[in-house]
This record gives sequence, C-alpha cells and structure tokens, in this order.
Amino acid sequence: MSSHPEGMPQKAQPQIDISKADTITCDDCGNASFIQAFFLKKISALMSPTGKEAIVPMQVFSCGNCGKIPQNMLELTGQ
Ligand SMILES: [Zn+2]
Repeated sequence: MSSHPEGMPQKAQPQIDISKADTITCDDCGNASFIQAFFLKKISALMSPTGKEAIVPMQVFSCGNCGKIPQNMLELTGQ
C-alpha cells in the first residue's frame, strides 16, 4: 500500500516545448524582453462591492526597451 507516484502515467500532462512557442515582440521596436508593470484601475464607490472607492492593480508587461505595452497583450488580459 504505497502512495508513491512512481510509474504513474504522464499522459495527463501534455508536454509544452516552450522553445516552439511564439515569442511576443514589441510592435514598435521589435524588442522581445518585457518588464512587469501594473495598470491601476480606480473602482468608483458606486461600482465597488464594498461601497468604497478602491484602486485595483492589473498586471501587464511593457517593452523593456521603449515601454510600450503590446496591443495583443492587452487583448489577452481582457483590457
Ligand atoms: Zn518597444
């Protein structure tokens, strides 16, 4: 009676080859490295579930070279 996971089939976990995935590049300058940034969304007291004004951070990535946030990134994050 062992719960050791040795020999468990690995079919449930699809292998992802990250090197074959598309690299997102900056629309403006073609740079492919990004830095973490945040939009700060201001929730009005009327919209807020707490009834108080709130600031909610929304994580995005901006180009490490020119600072632009790629449009497709905005679409992916639902913005
Ligand atoms: Zn750029």
